[in-house]
Amino acid sequence: MNYFSLNNNAPRINFKEAVIRGLAPDRGLYFPEKITPLSSEFIDNIESYSNQEIAYKVIHPFVGDEIPEKELKKIIDETLCFDFPVVEVEDNVATLELFQGPTMAFKDVGARFMARCLGYFNSKSDKKDKEITVLVATSGDTGGAVASGFLGVKGIKVVILYPSGKVSEIQEKQLTTNGQNVSALEVNGVFDDCQEMVKTAFLDQELKNNMKLTSANSINIARWLPQMFYFFFAYKTLKKQGIDKKIVFSIPSGNFGNVCAGLMAHQLGLPIDHFVASTNINDTVPKYMEAGVYEPKPSQETISNAMDVGNPSNFIRIQKIVNNDLYKLKKTFSSYSFTDKETLKALSKIRTLSGKYIADPHGAVGYLGLKKFMKDNKDVFGVFLETAHPIKFKDTVEQQLGLTLEIPSQIEAILDKEKESALIEDYQELKSYLLNS
Ligand SMILES: *Cc1c(COP(=O)(O)O)cnc(C)c1O
Repeated sequence: MNYFSLNNNAPRINFKEAVIRGLAPDRGLYFPEKITPLSSEFIDNIESYSNQEIAYKVIHPFVGDEIPEKELKKIIDETLCFDFPVVEVEDNVATLELFQGPTMAFKDVGARFMARCLGYFNSKSDKKDKEITVLVATSGDTGGAVASGFLGVKGIKVVILYPSGKVSEIQEKQLTTNGQNVSALEVNGVFDDCQEMVKTAFLDQELKNNMKLTSANSINIARWLPQMFYFFFAYKTLKKQGIDKKIVFSIPSGNFGNVCAGLMAHQLGLPIDHFVASTNINDTVPKYMEAGVYEPKPSQETISNAMDVGNPSNFIRIQKIVNNDLYKLKKTFSSYSFTDKETLKALSKIRTLSGKYIADPHGAVGYLGLKKFMKDNKDVFGVFLETAHPIKFKDTVEQQLGLTLEIPSQIEAILDKEKESALIEDYQELKSYLLNS
């Protein structure tokens, strides 16, 4: 499989090159040349396949011959080290829990897959002496998942940039307490500043001459594409349960990589009727769906901070899937925006209606989007993605619900560790850090 840049001004390259590069030299995102639907025989009998078998079927065409079958299966086994439960919270509404991984956020799947692909490519490379440096900007959860996914992977160094004071305490611990091949830089600014610095670094010729630099944001195809897996897993679970209504997914969205992976799964033939990209007041995409004008703006802080993104990097891939046809997009895709106040109310409502379910603020936004869609579309079965464990947003959830959350063992283990990070102000400081470390 070859990949081309969505800016159309860079050479076509294979999976391996696209993973190593991250972003194309013309600053465009890579996109697969061909999307071939899976056989209907496979989709119709999906319940007879294991999750590992499904993942292999889904991803193999995108990897091509760049990773041999045996290695790819091993990578998949190591990626899928946890469960993907579908939990019913009220009639015709369920949540797909994507937080059972090591950092308790859905990004563990993509991060683990990407780390192992890069580790494999590096082990096969002739220039073993040149370490790969993974540079990643995070608004909260990405950094932790990438750190955990890459921790101890040979030949790869990870540098994480995060906005100072804008991530939760647990998130910060997950970013800054890893040691080994992982280091954290605290940026005096917002997430968009971090993302901009990372993009600038990739275009910096002096850096390029001195190191092999790649990204692990969802712009990287090895992080983005494996996110298709759990849409298939959830469909399999619902099919096993005998649900025969039309299925709608609502995805809490920030950079819109996750929902874009859902749309790719749909392109591969997964019978999902509609996708709702739910977000907070950072409403660039909902506004676009309404008015047809895409106007990026600075991000605003909310209680669902992993979605505080004013210029979602993956939206361009969504537009590509429908060949920039807004009318076509509207048939399978909607996007809604919600305030923090609505989100808090939803946390309480989910708990009351389900009798016990505790969502996190991102899941609650997903729930709101789903309910809004279902109001006008009765007789569907809705699934909202629960993208993080509520413990990651402990203060908000505890205050709203008036309870104390139990701390899961993965989190307990890092709370006492000492934070290690360096504060930086601008791109020049990042550059000298990279050149001198
Ligand atoms: C990253 C993240 C999101 C947004 O995912 P995108 O793929 O960037 O749209 C939503 N919720 C949580 C908890 C996240 O960490």
